[in-house]
Amino acid sequence: MVRSVRLASLLSAGVCALAVLGAGAAQAQSAGAIRAAEQLRDQALQSNIALDYVTQLTTRFGARPAGSPSEQAAAAWAADYMRAQGFKNVRIQEFPLVGWERGEESATLLGANPQHLVVAALGHSVATPAAGVEGEVVRFRTLEELQAVPDGSLRGKIAYVDAGQLIPMQDGSGYGPLTRIRGAGPGVAAQKGAAAFIMRSVGSDMHRMPHTGTTRYIDGKVPLPGFALSGPDASQLSRLMDMGEKPRLRLTSTAHTYETKSQNVIGDLPGRTHPEQVIVLGSHMDSWDLGTGAIDDGAGGAITLAAAKLMMERGAPARTVRVILYGSEEVAQPTNTGNGGGAYLRSLSPDELKNHVFTGESDFGADRVYAFGLPVGAQGSDFAKAAARVLYPIGVLPSPDPELHGGADIGPIVEAGVPVFGLNQDGTRYFDLHHTADDTLDKIDPKQLSQNVAAWTALVWLAADSDVDFRAMRPAATAGR
Ligand code: ZN
Ligand code: ZN
Repeated sequence: MVRSVRLASLLSAGVCALAVLGAGAAQAQSAGAIRAAEQLRDQALQSNIALDYVTQLTTRFGARPAGSPSEQAAAAWAADYMRAQGFKNVRIQEFPLVGWERGEESATLLGANPQHLVVAALGHSVATPAAGVEGEVVRFRTLEELQAVPDGSLRGKIAYVDAGQLIPMQDGSGYGPLTRIRGAGPGVAAQKGAAAFIMRSVGSDMHRMPHTGTTRYIDGKVPLPGFALSGPDASQLSRLMDMGEKPRLRLTSTAHTYETKSQNVIGDLPGRTHPEQVIVLGSHMDSWDLGTGAIDDGAGGAITLAAAKLMMERGAPARTVRVILYGSEEVAQPTNTGNGGGAYLRSLSPDELKNHVFTGESDFGADRVYAFGLPVGAQGSDFAKAAARVLYPIGVLPSPDPELHGGADIGPIVEAGVPVFGLNQDGTRYFDLHHTADDTLDKIDPKQLSQNVAAWTALVWLAADSDVDFRAMRPAATAGR
């Protein structure tokens, strides 16, 4: 480690340890590094690399379902794009994947006045028999209500969870409680004997565009066909039940899985003096099949790639900055492999992992960054003060909370101890679009996209052109990680 080498050499020269640590910290965020970060921030606001990348990606390849030929082709193209931009050691890291294809789906309210409802099968849910599944709808307000009924009591029925619309919040925190329903719902409904599972889309809009998303495997299987109803269709069905009707539904789906492969695309900006020390910037290449994956997550690749490219133009920082476009973030798998994030972690030796000094993930659209979060123990540090100074002019304030997770792609390396940062984006309109047919390029506001790039470039530069050791800042309780 840089710091311990410097400490040892200075100690032998008779300098007191306290003064040395102070000097090291001051140098980590020198006036020069702060000035450089400020200049990079301002250049990023004028740059259009991010917009170019996400425009090409979403236009050339459209939707990029995990493991599909379009995800594979987009990955090969992105590797070429990185090489053309000057990234080094550009490589594609493959891993096996169970892919999923939607096929055709439908939902029909039966009875004297049949109605067509707009649904989307949940990712990795199974097909219905060719004639469909028919049954009476039994409604639950929460997943817990469904969990509470006796096993086997919904035999032949369709379990329906309508927990209400997602409440839009700046930090996106309305999503977590509802996404549990999507993940666990089909498994719980199967345990209760239901023939199928439906739910109100996890979304904050009122458009007839259902929000898909993956459901979860249980013991290697998705036990039931599962569907998301668009907001207006869920309201329609629930109103009918409020009027005392006992609706029957026919659901059809031809969804199926297949064996395939996916891949991470990795490119480096090698460090000037400490190339072995790596900062990983993550996002994901795959998207859902309904839209073109502009906000989820073409934008994340665009932001991180542009940040590294801007640093490259200035001249490499001390440490290596690595951009990873992870494969197949969106889908659950029969075994918990961690998808692209897991494959990347498994590719690292213990020494390489130890030399991963910092990581962050961009996977929350392209609207402006309003706060930054640092690893546990870094709040109030010289690094935090420098970051606050550089990011304040673009409206980014220090988060009072440490960043703990980062996101699904970098999750495995964060779990393995790599210090994580977060640049928190405004998620107020994210869940209007997320996982729908409406996730398209036109939803990206170029000005806000540039502000993201500015925040990423400035914060990552401060860490990359320094010797700051976030692991050493951890309080004793978490220091072993
Ligand atoms: Zn995503
Ligand atoms: Zn997603």
